[in-house]
Amino acid sequence: MDIVFGPVPSRRLGRSLGVNNIPPKHCTYSCIYCQLGRTDHLTVSRRKFYDWDFIVREVVNKASKVGLSNIDYVTFVPDGEPTLDAFLGKEIREIKKRLPVRVAVITNGSLLWMDDVRSDLQEADWVSVKVDAVTEDAYRRVDRPHPSLRLPAVLGGIEEFSRAYHGILVTETMLVAGVNDSVSELEETAKFIEELNPAKAYIAVPIRPPAEAWAVPPSEKVVLSAYQIFEEHLGDRVELLIGAEGGDFVIDPDKPVESILGIISVHPIRKNVLIRLLADKGLDPEEVVDRITRSGEAVLVEFEGEEFLVRRLPGRKDLSNRRNGL
Ligand code: SF4
Repeated sequence: MDIVFGPVPSRRLGRSLGVNNIPPKHCTYSCIYCQLGRTDHLTVSRRKFYDWDFIVREVVNKASKVGLSNIDYVTFVPDGEPTLDAFLGKEIREIKKRLPVRVAVITNGSLLWMDDVRSDLQEADWVSVKVDAVTEDAYRRVDRPHPSLRLPAVLGGIEEFSRAYHGILVTETMLVAGVNDSVSELEETAKFIEELNPAKAYIAVPIRPPAEAWAVPPSEKVVLSAYQIFEEHLGDRVELLIGAEGGDFVIDPDKPVESILGIISVHPIRKNVLIRLLADKGLDPEEVVDRITRSGEAVLVEFEGEEFLVRRLPGRKDLSNRRNGL
């Protein structure tokens, strides 16, 4: 695996040049849904993995090869937890000194109770923090943290960072059926995230083969309910990350099905709103909705007396089959 890869298209970050600053798989968590499999080096010790100047050189070389105009963010998104790298702050600083680029870090946030981790992440322009659960039982079941990690300290560290951070802070919550998706759990999680005041709160589900075959996405109805609960606390800052890429929120009359699938990958849409939008474009609304649902890519879900069009969760069937040994 190259230390620097891409740029890869990312809905959240545009064209993202990835930095893999942690060898597989050193992490503070062993999440049941991790697409990298179980963590074989469960650790909370920050240390050197690679020479910091080697990482910086690799980023500079790759950027000059692909062209700076093709990079929106340099993103630390390794095969493990990026803040385990004791030189992360130095690497971000040096990259920004040498290149006019923005730097992003996707972290699980478990070490933010450490002063040095918070100050390292201050160097980044965009930080995504994982908030899967805020109650002890769900946290331990979904993220399977290193035994020395204490949930109150982890949450306290994330809160402290959110208050001092000057860049763009977003959160990511991965929902797993029957583990962290109950209404009461989602209420608590949304309340905590609201306190962080993030620019966006993303809700995701496992769509790639997870570490544990039983870590399957909740039903579309539960995802819709999670979205509504989050929306009560965060308004239009909540987004789903469940499809490939989100659309640009306009319906292209020549490609209505593709446009709508893009939109509902980000926000479930009320059927009556959709019908109006389609009619405004001169399309036959019922025919288009029928085509979308027949495609198997979306389903109509009734929730609190209203019908919503929701993206079918791509991994659900496959993952359930795996669970059943099919
Ligand atoms: S924090 Fe990320 S890398 Fe670590 S186990 Fe969880 S999903 Fe995998």
